[in-house]
Amino acid sequence: MLTQIKGLHHVTSMAADARTNNQFFTHVLGLRRVKKTVNFDSPDVYHLYYGDETGAPGTVMTYFPFPDMGSGRPGTGEVGTTVFSVPEGSLGFWSDRLSKRGVTGLKAEETFGEKRLNFAGSDGDGFALVEVREDNRPVWTANGVGEDHAIRGFHSVAMRLRDEGATAELLKFMGYETFEAGDGVTRFIMPGSNGAGIVDLETMPNIQHGLQGAGSVHHVAFSVENREKQLEVRKALMDTGYRVTPVIDRDYFWAIYFRTPGGVLFEIATNEPGFDRDEDTAHLGEALKLPQQHKHLRPILEQHLQKLEG
Ligand code: ZN
Repeated sequence: MLTQIKGLHHVTSMAADARTNNQFFTHVLGLRRVKKTVNFDSPDVYHLYYGDETGAPGTVMTYFPFPDMGSGRPGTGEVGTTVFSVPEGSLGFWSDRLSKRGVTGLKAEETFGEKRLNFAGSDGDGFALVEVREDNRPVWTANGVGEDHAIRGFHSVAMRLRDEGATAELLKFMGYETFEAGDGVTRFIMPGSNGAGIVDLETMPNIQHGLQGAGSVHHVAFSVENREKQLEVRKALMDTGYRVTPVIDRDYFWAIYFRTPGGVLFEIATNEPGFDRDEDTAHLGEALKLPQQHKHLRPILEQHLQKLEG
């Protein structure tokens, strides 16, 4: 069993419109945009990162807004719900705020003894807020969301699978422990995590595979401290039979990817070097940042990429 993984690092999804996406995460959810860059594999498309003040691992929701992309068809083999942690007693505020801003899919419920508010993202993405009593992660307050209400980072992701067996084994190999099973959902918890330590597996044997599009989660990334630990994880996964990519430099972290038995794409990402490697913390996310290999495209991209504000 591995001990290097410390919970979620980031979740990456797709959207149809960069401006709407930016508006939703900053002005509706009150997160900070911590990086404005491009998809390194498709530099005519943004890669936008939203998180806490510094974009700490376990807080970062990222998007590829492909202009006019069609909606995904939800199904199995993907992350169905991305869940954020909010302070105890804050769901009334959120219910009010989200409904006033036209957010759809609002539904309050209680799962695993936790109060939860489900809602849809601007592309129909499956999201929820869960009240957590003791979440001491630092908080970013902006856009009318104060400390008593602000999102602390991820609480969990829930994956929809036709069969959870092999993915459950993988999570346990990665260091997660089975917490509780109920109502078709099994909860796994990472001891000593960065705060984003929960994964839920929802078993749906009769639901067809999802088709990726706007509103779909592209992949979910798990956090390791540094490159040395990442190489240890890579070797262990490969020794277990997973086909893992070589280490890829994503400028703000190093990444390896592998497809899991249930169909979900996993990434293992390093906490180093972080989002302040090319911008002051005070100005994160403001300027368009380009990786070395795409720097020559700046004049074209600045003209071509949609303006996010103004
Ligand atoms: Zn990623």
